[in-house]
Formats: sequence, structure tokens, C-alpha cells
Amino acid sequence: MTTQPHSYESGEDGFFGPFGGCFVSETLAQAVEELRLAYAHYRNDPAFIAEFHEELADYVGRPSPVYYAKRLSEETGGARIFLKREDLNHTGAHKINNVIGQAMLAKRMGKHRIIAETGAGQHGVAVATICARYGLECVIYMGSTDMQRQQPNVQRMQLLGATVTPVTTGSCTLKDAMNDAIRDWVAHVDDTFYLIGSVAGMHPYPTMVRDFQTVIGKECLLQVPALFQRLGLSQSLPDAVIACVGGGSNAMGIFHPYLEHESVRLIGVEAAGMGLDSGLHASSIQRGSTGVLHGSRSLILQDDLGQVQQTHSISAGLDYPGVGPEHAWLHELGRAEYVGITDAEALHAFHQLCRVEGIIPALEASHAVAYAIKLAATLTNEHTILVNLSGRGDKDMETVVNSSLHREAS
Ligand SMILES: *Cc1c(COP(=O)(O)O)cnc(C)c1O
Repeated sequence: MTTQPHSYESGEDGFFGPFGGCFVSETLAQAVEELRLAYAHYRNDPAFIAEFHEELADYVGRPSPVYYAKRLSEETGGARIFLKREDLNHTGAHKINNVIGQAMLAKRMGKHRIIAETGAGQHGVAVATICARYGLECVIYMGSTDMQRQQPNVQRMQLLGATVTPVTTGSCTLKDAMNDAIRDWVAHVDDTFYLIGSVAGMHPYPTMVRDFQTVIGKECLLQVPALFQRLGLSQSLPDAVIACVGGGSNAMGIFHPYLEHESVRLIGVEAAGMGLDSGLHASSIQRGSTGVLHGSRSLILQDDLGQVQQTHSISAGLDYPGVGPEHAWLHELGRAEYVGITDAEALHAFHQLCRVEGIIPALEASHAVAYAIKLAATLTNEHTILVNLSGRGDKDMETVVNSSLHREAS
């Protein structure tokens, strides 16, 4: 038997094995096709690529460092833990990387009006930021429940000049905001660009968003060997790369450049909420089934009748009932592993990182840190784990302080 090296490239049609694709109504088909052609052109355009990297350097502050979390590693007593510091980006998370790429594309396509959905408000803030930077009109759809839970982000978006439109259908949260944004797009295809915040949605979004986010992993491929050498480690690749998975964009961004390095374990951490068997979680890969949501086939949390289920996570950014199709495929291929971390475990890791490293992580990223700590404890200090620290935790102060779990966990 010969073993073929695996190809992890998606098809031209946006399918990742059985997942992905473009399931849209006729009214949207043309707008999606226009986007697909524009992206297919500009992704190979040297001027576009050069401007993207200038923006990332001058406006976002890239490259973000890779940091050896020495005290965390020593306290854990096992593998060495390294953090890719996406929390240091302008606007406080990885989301800005993708938003800049899509906004640049919108300008080149002659679209002056940007619409986006947001759950926690982090993607909305990034979009409002870049619309201010480029002088574009900005409309953000946000569930009315989320608007109440995330008041400071609503105020930030308004300060930046965006219109925040409340969504009062369904569960009044992220998936409903995405539905309303898609409806708006259908009604205004001529002048409007729909800026999706994760590797979800119809083709070409999962591929396009992943491409913009791979700057994270590409930087790591250069930074990690240099740092390992400074520390006197002989290897040049980490043993494992860990990232939290909501829609899956920060995880795809760090995983993708490592896909061909088969010795590197890739581990996606889903929100297990109150527990994977509690019914109160957002673990679409571990507990979902195949279905179509927002224009692509993937693993989604749905009941027997195909109704999308309510999700729960302490971190609003992981609270999405679907996941990017490329993750569903990597799961099926066995190239990436997917695990769950509960609210309580994430909170515990949040406090530990604050206390021993002086870094306040986003609750989303705390899920990845929590799993890294668990895994590190089973390994030796010859081993290395690279964690994508997707964002900072300023936005989560209130949740953490108000959490009753806070007392249980500490
Ligand atoms: C939005 C967000 C996430 C989840 O989105 P992905 O597309 O899965 O990366 C994770 N971390 C932070 C800090 C976020 O803001």
C-alpha cells in the first residue's frame, strides 16, 4: 500500500470534501459570483497583496509576537507553552486581519456600503473601525439580546460612525443577525459589500477569510524556529498548535500553514459551556450533524427537524451554532482534533494567565489556553505547544467579575 501525501486544498467550487459550497437563492447568486471573480483576481494581484501587508504592519501593528509563557509552563510542569499574541493587534483580536482584506476588496469592487453581522460586537467593532479608516458607509446587524449584553461595543461602533441595527427575529442573536444581513445584501446588491467575520458562509467566504487570516500561521512558521533556537531547543516545529473555534477563523489562520507539517498536532477547542452532554454548549463539531446554514454545508447544532438549536458559551465569540466547512473536513480527515473546554475551565485559565503572565486574555482565547494547560501537564519540557491567543480580555471584565463560577473556580 502506498501512502499518498494528503492534499488539503479545497476545490475551485469551494467544497472541502463534502462540506462547503454555495447554497444561495437566485437573487444572491449574481452578487456572490461577482465577489468570487473579484477575489479570484485580487488574491493573486501583487499590488493588492502589498497593500494588505502594509496595512497589517502600519495600522494593525503586525507581526504580532510569539511569546514563551515561562511561568505558566513552569507552574503547569510539562510542555513549554508559547502564545501567538493576536491580543496585541489594533482593536484587540485577530478579526481585524480579515476585515482589512475584505474592505480593500470592497473598495476595488466600487462598493461604498459595508454591512456585517456581529454577535459579541467584536467583528462589528473591527468593521466599523476599518470603515472609518477607508471612508465607507457601515451598517452592523446585531441581535437585540446581544445589544443589551454588549453595550460597550454598541457604543464603540456608534462612536466610529456605524449604524447599529437591532435584530429582533428568532433568538435575537448572531445567527439571526446573519440572516438579516443576508436579506439586506439581497436588497442592495449593487452598492453593498457583505463583510463576513469568520470562515463560515457561502463560497468564497470560507476560503477568502482563511487566506486573510493565514498571516497568523505564516508569521509563526518564521518566528517559532527563531525563538526555539534562542531558547536552545533543537526542533523547529511545535508539537501541537491549539486555537479556540467559534466559526473557526483564528484557528484556520494558524492551522493552515501547518497542515502540510504532519508531525504537528492541530487541536481546535470548542466551547463546551456547561458540559458537552448538558445541551448548553456551542460544540458544533463534536455534537453537530451535517446541514446547510448561511449558504454552506457543514456541521451544525440542529434538532431532528433541522431547526438550529440554541447555543451557550460564557464567551459570546464562540456562541455560534455552526462552524466553518474546512474544520468539518479536517475533522473528517482526522488531520485536526477537536476538544471541548467548559465555561468553568475557561474561567480558571483566564485567571491563571492573568496571575502568572500579566496577560488578560479574551474568554474565547482562554478556552485554548485551558486546553494547552491540560495537554502540557501530560507531556515533558522537551515538548512545545503553540497557542493562538486570539484576543484580549478587556471586553470580558464584566462577565468575569459577575460570574458566580468565578468564586468556584478560584
Ligand atoms: C470572534 C472571536 C473568536 C471566534 O471567532 P473565530 O472565527 O472562531 O476565530 C475567538 N476569539 C476572539 C478573541 C474573538 O473575538
